[in-house]
Amino acid sequence: MKNANCSKIGTNEEKSFEYFSHILDNIHESFLILDDNLLIKHFNKAAEKATGLKSSLILNKYFFDVFDGAKGSIFEEKFNWVLKNRKEVTFETFYDKEPFKNWYEVRIYPHGSDIAVFLNTITRSKLAEHLKAESEQWNQLLLENAGVGIGYYDLNGKILMFNKLAAEHLNGSPEDFIDKYVYEIFSSNMASLIMERIENTVKLDKKLEFEDFFNAPSGQKWFLSNFVSIKDFKGNVMGVQIISQDITLRKLFEEELIKSEEKYRDLYKSMNEGLAVHKIIYNFHGKAIDYLITEVNPAYEKLLGLKEEDVIGRKASVVYGTNKPPYIDIYSLVVETRSPEHFETYFEPMDRYFSISAFSPKIGEFVTVFEDITSRIKSEKKLRESEEKLRLAVESANLGIWCWEIEKDNMVWSDRCKEIFGLKIDQEPYYELFMDFLHPDDRENLIEIMGNAVENNYANAEHRVIWPDGSVHWVQSTGKLYSGENGLKAFGIVVDIDERKNYEKALKLSEKKFRTAFENSTMGMSINDTDGNFIDVNDAFCHMLGYSRVELLSPSFNYLSITYAEDKETSKKYVNNLLNGQKSFYNLEKRYLHRDGSIIWAYLTLFLIQDDNNNPLYFITHIQNITAWKKAQDEIIKQNKLLELAHIFVVDNKDRIIFWNKGSEKLYGWSPEEALGKKSYELLKTKFPKPLDDIKLELNRFEHWEGELIHKCRNGKSLTVASHWVSQFDDSGENIATLEVNNDITKRKIAEENLKETLEELRKSNAELEQFAYVASHDLQEPLRMITSFLQLLSKRYEGKLDSDADEFIGFAVDGASRMQELINDLLIYSRVSRKAKKFENINTESTLIQSIFNLKVILDEKNANITYGSLPVVYGDYNQFVQLFQNFIANSIKYSINDPVIHICAEKKDEYWIFQIKDNGIGIDPKHHDRIFRIFQRLHRNGEYDGTGIGLAICRRIIERHGGDIWVDSELGNGSIFYFKIPIREDEIRRDEFE
Ligand code: ADP
Repeated sequence: MKNANCSKIGTNEEKSFEYFSHILDNIHESFLILDDNLLIKHFNKAAEKATGLKSSLILNKYFFDVFDGAKGSIFEEKFNWVLKNRKEVTFETFYDKEPFKNWYEVRIYPHGSDIAVFLNTITRSKLAEHLKAESEQWNQLLLENAGVGIGYYDLNGKILMFNKLAAEHLNGSPEDFIDKYVYEIFSSNMASLIMERIENTVKLDKKLEFEDFFNAPSGQKWFLSNFVSIKDFKGNVMGVQIISQDITLRKLFEEELIKSEEKYRDLYKSMNEGLAVHKIIYNFHGKAIDYLITEVNPAYEKLLGLKEEDVIGRKASVVYGTNKPPYIDIYSLVVETRSPEHFETYFEPMDRYFSISAFSPKIGEFVTVFEDITSRIKSEKKLRESEEKLRLAVESANLGIWCWEIEKDNMVWSDRCKEIFGLKIDQEPYYELFMDFLHPDDRENLIEIMGNAVENNYANAEHRVIWPDGSVHWVQSTGKLYSGENGLKAFGIVVDIDERKNYEKALKLSEKKFRTAFENSTMGMSINDTDGNFIDVNDAFCHMLGYSRVELLSPSFNYLSITYAEDKETSKKYVNNLLNGQKSFYNLEKRYLHRDGSIIWAYLTLFLIQDDNNNPLYFITHIQNITAWKKAQDEIIKQNKLLELAHIFVVDNKDRIIFWNKGSEKLYGWSPEEALGKKSYELLKTKFPKPLDDIKLELNRFEHWEGELIHKCRNGKSLTVASHWVSQFDDSGENIATLEVNNDITKRKIAEENLKETLEELRKSNAELEQFAYVASHDLQEPLRMITSFLQLLSKRYEGKLDSDADEFIGFAVDGASRMQELINDLLIYSRVSRKAKKFENINTESTLIQSIFNLKVILDEKNANITYGSLPVVYGDYNQFVQLFQNFIANSIKYSINDPVIHICAEKKDEYWIFQIKDNGIGIDPKHHDRIFRIFQRLHRNGEYDGTGIGLAICRRIIERHGGDIWVDSELGNGSIFYFKIPIREDEIRRDEFE
């Protein structure tokens, strides 16, 4: 196939030369041909453009002399392999030497005895390319090193600018030509040709291209010239730019090429770009209406998905299925003008973008070389979009961006980047400066991160920078590494995170503060969600309620679980009011239920926290255990009530009332409003027991005073009060206030008065009685003694001498007189109990008992009485009276007995008394007479039955009472009797005086 197709073209050597030259120069890939000695035979335009090397300078040079970085590399190995095996090979490699340092995709094909080498740079990052800003200097550089001659002419043919190469073409330097006119430089023919072309360029307003064989001062040469008009910013044409390229060598090479046309035919096959040869079809009017496809290469088939046999000899409109054959207007013009066209286009039927070069190698024919640029266009579009997004992102995020060509140590920082580092806008950064900015503490770490970036291709760090003013700022730097055309580059962004860092710090601090406060608060705190479940509780809360954190936070628990039953409804109501937005917080007292079932009173503050849109987020509850306080309060209320029973007021140091309690109000009748501010003694018309000044002196000395006062009430009534004063003093000892507690003792006083009067009366009547008893007993004794002695005389002298009646009468009279004698004696004893009493002293009652038994010895023996006694105490009293006392009791026990008397006497200690008892086995006493028998002259028996005066027990009672004691009897008829009396153990003088 190869040969068949090739034979169609290349019949004419000249045409063939032109044909191939176009093809090679329209290939967008870098391409070169090496002979079997690896000498460079061809170096296409794309390769020139990519490397900046001029093909004229490297032709016939040894490949590894030009590209010495490839020596000994995979290149050498692959070249040899292809030369030897005559098979194609593809590989990717990194060419590691400037200025071509880059990644390449390399394809090598056998080409006759030569090899064809296609080189493609592998673009690592389009973004990187984008970021590279083209500077004015770069333009200048380009102008100088473009490899083409460039001249600017005004419309009159005056040269405005000539670059070096343009001048070299004319064997001079730019200064030789600037400001000269074309006529001064070129031959008149050449000059008028140039002027004509300048005019046409302006007139047609399009780029014109010419190839001329020119007899230049530097020698005879072929030039390719492009004429383009130069416009000002308003679009007015100012002049024309002529770019001239020496194509002599190419022409020569093309000649050479013709000779080896066959060899080049093979190239079509190896090309990555599609190639098709067409023949134009004209109508009768000579207008191009369609074109036939006459030849295509394998890439064509691959790129368009069409088979060679389906397209060859067919019309384009048919093959591509379009009414109008694609780009017929452009192609007809190419064929017509024989000038090539290059365009990029969207080919709708296939929904793809193509870059197409068209040229006409011979009349009526044209060739298209095209490549599918869909993915490039799409990625460019995407890039543009993402670039726009990026730009917006960069601007809105206030990002600083930077780029660093590491090997060249060339840093470019955006203005914002400089701002973030505290650099002035016109300052240019460099590596050392950057390092100086870094905070010393972060430097080491950052260098390490940068080192790692070589492996990871990515670095990210938060670090501090120190501004020239010494202030420290936080920034976040992100960087990416890539290897571009000019070696290893890094680019990235920096963000000012000062505010965030400060905020973070503040947040952390406030969070910590809050946490600490929460954890350590003695107040119980809980956080609940809007359903009332616990989200968090502090220790104090757990402690108050006796539950563990885990228990409270379990899902089955909420605030109602620990609320006292009677308070649940109210709690719910408060919570709902918060959720409804009626209030933002509550203070309340409520009862919780402790885990042990006890009630915990709490003072509670309940907040609802909301978001910015007032949506409820959670509740915060503070609780204070006031159970103890509640109890105390109850106690205080009780005490206050008690205090109200007391009558209390407080006066200041000027005696003005400053406190007046309910009790005082009740007692005196004045309300606090009426009483406060008044002088107490004026209000109450106080009568003091001694001058107030004396009382105050005492108060200052002892801090309190007690005494009886007379107060007048609001209703005029007088009160006697027992008043108790307590004073309070300041640091300097000045009396600030005095509290007075007053007890109404009016009634007691009256009772005391009455008692006093009664006692006085009693004393008087007693005295009278004593007087009477004394008088009676003493004064009656004398006449009685006389009666008795004369009656005895009468009885002695006249017994038996008178009649029997007289004897009996005298006997009665003697009896009566002796009874009277007894009576008077007893009365005397009775009256003497107090009148002739001795001073009290410590007496042994046992001695007094023995004395009394001794006194009664005769009668005791006579009656055969049995007397026993226990141990008897020493008491404070009157010895003789105690003898009298026992004597009376024992005498009665003997008198009122039936059988032999058995008598026992003992004493025992009870409370503050000695209780004595005298027990007998006598006739006993009916209980109804128990009181009577202690009264004077009261007897239960007639004389003759039991003789007596009825004074004995009255004497006993009088003696006991004189000793501060009491007397009583326990007895029944026929059952013997027990007589009791008690004597106080600690008898003091005062008490005894009272009775004296
Ligand atoms: P008197 O013995 O002179 O009658 P008292 O004052 O001694 O007077 O006693 C009053 C009365 O109490 C007696 O009359 C007697 O009836 C009764 N009495 C006193 N002692 C006894 C006693 N030991 N047993 C029974 N009756 C007694």
